[in-house]
Amino acid sequence: MTVAILWFRRDLRLADHEALTTACQNADRLIPVYVHDPESDKGWPLGAASRWWLHHSLCALSERLRQADSRLTVWCGKTETALPDLAELTGATQVYCSRVYDPNPVANDARIAQLLAARGVSFLRFGGTLLHEPESLLNASGAPYRVFTPFWKACQRLPACGPPLPVPARFPPPPQGIPSLTVDALELLPRVGWEGGLADRWQPGEQNAEALCSAFCSDDIAAYTRLRDVPSASGTSRLSPYLHLGEITPRQILWQASSMEQSDAGSTQPYIRQLGWREFAHHLLHYFPHTPDKPLDPRFTRFPWRANYRSLLQAWQSGETGIPLVDAGMRELWKTGWMHNRVRMIAASFLTKNLRIPWQEGARWFWDTLVDADLANNTLGWQWVAGCGADAAPYFRIFNPVLQGERFDKQGRYVRRWLPELGELPDRWLQQPWNATPEILSAAKIRLGIDYPHPVVDLAASRRDALVAYDKIKRLKN
Ligand code: FAD
Repeated sequence: MTVAILWFRRDLRLADHEALTTACQNADRLIPVYVHDPESDKGWPLGAASRWWLHHSLCALSERLRQADSRLTVWCGKTETALPDLAELTGATQVYCSRVYDPNPVANDARIAQLLAARGVSFLRFGGTLLHEPESLLNASGAPYRVFTPFWKACQRLPACGPPLPVPARFPPPPQGIPSLTVDALELLPRVGWEGGLADRWQPGEQNAEALCSAFCSDDIAAYTRLRDVPSASGTSRLSPYLHLGEITPRQILWQASSMEQSDAGSTQPYIRQLGWREFAHHLLHYFPHTPDKPLDPRFTRFPWRANYRSLLQAWQSGETGIPLVDAGMRELWKTGWMHNRVRMIAASFLTKNLRIPWQEGARWFWDTLVDADLANNTLGWQWVAGCGADAAPYFRIFNPVLQGERFDKQGRYVRRWLPELGELPDRWLQQPWNATPEILSAAKIRLGIDYPHPVVDLAASRRDALVAYDKIKRLKN
């Protein structure tokens, strides 16, 4: 009788799960387990919004397994102790899991494999989180790609990945009597109830991910190119938090999207390319594991960031910078745990360039507040905007939040949704209330500095300062 453990990590689903499918084929008894191990995320402990998502995702997974006549075992503690202990308790001889790419868990994997091997237990890791494993994509000199376009071209030359795997037809029953915590006992939910906005906005879990993906691919994907940059529209898939915890795989999305392709050739490619950015981010994190904390371009360790920036950082975090598009984004983030990609770029550019606050501060705040907080994507996003990462935005590209607002939020729907205090301001002044006359402000019932802040910096002057600082850095040798 073969007893096996399926260790759930960032793959909280039953479909398209190679580790699970193989374990179900090979084992007579299968113990699906989730080990909550805060220590394995040292340096980057789960943020509050991610903990909320994880709680609900585990509840959904547990319910799915129950319906399949299986059971989720939940343990809390060091994984490197828990897995060998569980194997010993149950007589398991195999541990199956999916690969992850964050530096700390990766380092732990080698140790876990050793400890299991010492007890005669094999440790079997499978892909699935990405379309292509990092080892399969190196440039002609055998080095990792640092620029997206050649990376994506090389990806597209690889053999296409096959169809997604179905949910296993048969789940080997787990042995009886294995001790387990409840998901509630992990205390992932906040003690003070701030999460109402998240609950209103999101429904975690594999089945919700599948439904969202189907709806997006059938109704919205064709309009992706037109609407993806409009923050007030539902123009993007909003699958990022589901992808992060592996409630859906990029392969499942790719297949759904590609099935639309036949009816509207070419229209799905811009969307699929975004999955390419996710691949790129994960490959970079795999090859450059120091980058969540340090710039990929080492010259940027000498960047002249502003000193004493606490109060400016707080104004940015709470959406009170006096720059409407930035504030709207930060308030959307606080309320819903998510922010539109274009606004993420603008808010990050404002922090790192106009305020000259280190990108790591912004990355930490996003990490704590985003439901899709993902070490690979977040690191890529922040370093790209700050100009210090792979394929980084050129340093002189400093988003002007007023022009961006006038272009992508023409009727001000997004700003008005998140900053109702500016609701009555005419479109002409909505993105720059400080330039409106006292009469216009008064007619819109706005007292600048009371109802809505004055800008914390002058956009033009801070842009000039940033360019001077960036210019110095660019002259340094790598
Ligand atoms: P869609 O436009 O529908 O794209 C589909 C999927 O492609 C996304 O779910 C995501 O997995 C991937 N994707 C899209 N854009 C990017 C990108 N630029 N980089 C990497 N993958 C991408 N994304 C996260 O998932 N987690 C983060 O913590 C994160 N932090 C970011 C921080 C900054 C400063 C910036 C500029 C971007 C960040 N992104 C992050 C990338 C991007 O903003 C989100 O992936 C996207 O907004 C998610 O919404 P969506 O699912 O509707 O995206």
